[in-house]
Amino acid sequence: MSSAADTSARLPAHLYVHVPFCRSKCSYCDFFSLSDAAEAATSRWVAEVLAEARWWGARGMRGALETVYVGGGTPSLVAEKVAAVLAGVSAEFAIAPGAEVTVEANPDSLDAKSLASLRAAGVTRVSVGVQSFDDTVLGMLGRRHDSRRAAQACADVREAGLALSVDLICGVPGQSLTSWAETIATAVATGARHVSVYPLALEEGTPLAVAVDGGIVEPPDPDTAADMMVLAEESLARAGLARYEVANYAVPGAESRHNLAYWSGVPYLALGPAAHGMLDVAQARVAGLIGNDDYPDAARVRWSNAADLEWRTLPREVEVLTREEVAREDVMLGLRLVHGVAEEDVRAAELEEVMAELGAEGLVVRASGRWRTTARGWLLGNEVFERVWCG
Ligand code: SF4
Repeated sequence: MSSAADTSARLPAHLYVHVPFCRSKCSYCDFFSLSDAAEAATSRWVAEVLAEARWWGARGMRGALETVYVGGGTPSLVAEKVAAVLAGVSAEFAIAPGAEVTVEANPDSLDAKSLASLRAAGVTRVSVGVQSFDDTVLGMLGRRHDSRRAAQACADVREAGLALSVDLICGVPGQSLTSWAETIATAVATGARHVSVYPLALEEGTPLAVAVDGGIVEPPDPDTAADMMVLAEESLARAGLARYEVANYAVPGAESRHNLAYWSGVPYLALGPAAHGMLDVAQARVAGLIGNDDYPDAARVRWSNAADLEWRTLPREVEVLTREEVAREDVMLGLRLVHGVAEEDVRAAELEEVMAELGAEGLVVRASGRWRTTARGWLLGNEVFERVWCG
């Protein structure tokens, strides 16, 4: 068996923790979360997450963490439990000086007490799920908060001295361009130095998708969503928040270091139900995700924990990528970023022909030794990424 020393070159420096609790389900959501945050369930979740952290630690994955991201679900709903998890994590892994520690929050469960508890636990950044500053749009999305509460939550984060990121959704049925423009302007006025903008995705089986299928709600219009993405890019750029990834904007220096790691092909650990992680093949073998003699062509291993509170007793789903697939995946991930991908990486992935075709269609462009996604390519991002992945 390989030793832990085999994995020391690139020990995971990034950790995701999934919180599986929400007060209620939003109409569009298919993330794994339960609308039961009773003490017994949340305490059990803390114990199991920390047991999982020790499991990784015992397998030599004790890197110094440069970023930790606690997502969900609604981490702010169980802020004191999140603080307990962060304390346990920092006992198991070193947290590097200056680490970025982000917690997702919902406006209806964020207050001075929860912010103080998160800050004392080492949190540096709060990503607030505002989604819209229009109460009609918030109603369509089944959110529990109104626009006034959302603005207050953003102010509270800044007051607590934490970095503020705001999440917004566009392309919602009934949402007008005027409403969207006002939402962006209000997001800018909160002083957020990071904004994420996602077009609404109708996920099968969600109440919103059922209402659309049943003709009760108008289906989202992709052209309107595209106009809204363009409006977001222009308005946020004017306010000093530059796009750095297909859905993310920041004041220079305020980019999410955790998300940048996801798009850079570096290993990261994951704790909690439905959490996804990624390791180099040597690390995956040490951890026992795959056997030492399995998959001789493997270069990278992705896994996801079961979407169940009993996740630690259930098998993980493991995906093994060959060196060729890793090269293609890195190009695909790089094209999500504004700075794009180096020509030599495209060559190494044998994707020159695909990129030339995408270039001819105006979806990517080559300049100064790099391939970058164009404005049109951003709007058709899924098509670009899929064609690169398929080679
Ligand atoms: S708060 Fe977030 S995770 Fe919870 S139901 Fe709503 S969208 Fe889903």
